[in-house]
Amino acid sequence: MFFRIMDKDRLPDLVAGLSKGFEVIGPVAKGERFVFERIETPEMLRLDYDTTLLPPKKLFFPPEEQMMRFRVADNEVVDDEVYAAPRVIFGLHPCDINALMLMDNVFLGEYEDPYYRARRESTMLIGVSCKPTDECFCNAWGTDEVHWGFDVFLTDLGDRYFISVRSVKGAELLDEFVATRDADESDTAAFQQHTRNFKNSFTDDLDTSQLPLLLDAKFDDPLWDRLGERCLSCGACSMVCPTCYCFDVTDRLEADGKTGTRVRTWDSCQFTQFAEVAHGQNFRESRASRVKYRYYHKQWGYLSKFERVLCVGCGRCARACLAGISPREVVTALEMGGAS
Ligand code: SF4
Ligand code: SF4
Repeated sequence: MFFRIMDKDRLPDLVAGLSKGFEVIGPVAKGERFVFERIETPEMLRLDYDTTLLPPKKLFFPPEEQMMRFRVADNEVVDDEVYAAPRVIFGLHPCDINALMLMDNVFLGEYEDPYYRARRESTMLIGVSCKPTDECFCNAWGTDEVHWGFDVFLTDLGDRYFISVRSVKGAELLDEFVATRDADESDTAAFQQHTRNFKNSFTDDLDTSQLPLLLDAKFDDPLWDRLGERCLSCGACSMVCPTCYCFDVTDRLEADGKTGTRVRTWDSCQFTQFAEVAHGQNFRESRASRVKYRYYHKQWGYLSKFERVLCVGCGRCARACLAGISPREVVTALEMGGAS
């Protein structure tokens, strides 16, 4: 990794330059919130955003996508190409970059997903520093920092960006599209001070150190029933989560009955039918069992396989949940002794 400095007023040059060779996607305002969308003009890009409604996972693993088309008569696949145009996603926060690396473990691991891989390989990532929100707790998992998984990362030093360049492609982008200079001692000192200030700006230190142990001990705790009584099974927590990756696959036959499309759509372990099998048997019939499953999968099951929890503390689920259920509440309740 090496470091460069870019004056802030050069940002439009970089975005405009990138737009000549890539589809550029970044955070844009939508009402009072923000979403990742195509950037048509540099002015659209809002690097001062807090968090986006949906995470950038939607750009690699869309809410709905065609996997292939098929012919019924001869049972042949006729179209399973993945079209992945070269693109740059601009302005990802550290939590969302960390979340993509957690998704990589699943989609690029033992059973590789060609759709996800094609989009991952055609996409460059430009990260940007952030400020804590009321809901986020990334500091509890160490996902407030990111050292890998991006091409370029911009840290906001006020009048300039301290740029961490992680890949050769990232260096080439900077060389081609914007004027930068070497970081000097005062830039490095400002970067270190920024990092200290950022760490100190988290007002709430959620203690997650005992969590796997607590989950082991509290599988039958009444806490899960209480959460189940509140949960609406709406699935919003999964939909907005940058690390939830469950999906459903369905075949949709055309009206002529000769051809069809295989489609996959996001699914949620909070939906009633998620664990339903033949004959109507449902392995997680109660809302309590489904809420519990979500926490055990994220903070225990995934951890036991990949040595990381499947949560980056972005706080989106806390914002989305109409029942007010949040990981912060659940972890705190477990730490405090379970049901209360
Ligand atoms: S579980 Fe909630 S806080 Fe954790 S990554 Fe998912 S949406 Fe963010
Ligand atoms: S968002 Fe809240 S109410 Fe909806 S399924 Fe998730 S925990 Fe339950």
